[in-house]
Amino acid sequence: MESIPDSGVYVLVIPVRKACTLSAGALGRLELREGYYAYVGRAGRGLGARLARHTCRAGKRLHWHVDYLLERACVEEIWVFPLRAGECVLAARLEREGARREGLRSFGSSDCRCAGHLLYLGSVKPLPPGDSVMVITRPERAT
Ligand SMILES: [Zn+2]
Repeated sequence: MESIPDSGVYVLVIPVRKACTLSAGALGRLELREGYYAYVGRAGRGLGARLARHTCRAGKRLHWHVDYLLERACVEEIWVFPLRAGECVLAARLEREGARREGLRSFGSSDCRCAGHLLYLGSVKPLPPGDSVMVITRPERAT
């Protein structure tokens, strides 16, 4: 398999198997429904290590908002885009394409002004966008 680029914007595709309420630190409680969520993140360097951290669940400190979600669910697939894609731009694009941010505002976006980096994709597993540079399936084995 190709090696993971050193930097990039990434989308974690996270299936939530059962509706639940999540306590996400300062964000408070989030109602999650059953289905697929996308979390959009960015690594200016060390992308491989970042992805490994997202997909390894053992004994991790809860640092990012997404860590709270990953306490409950596993990353099923990762889509990697070039850094220039921009995490906020990519999140906005997923929303234009039908993903929804309601109830998820500000998730993962404490450092920017956009509406949030966690989106609900629906109950059907989405296909990776054609312009992703890499798709990692079952990342707990790949990273
Ligand atoms: Zn943003």
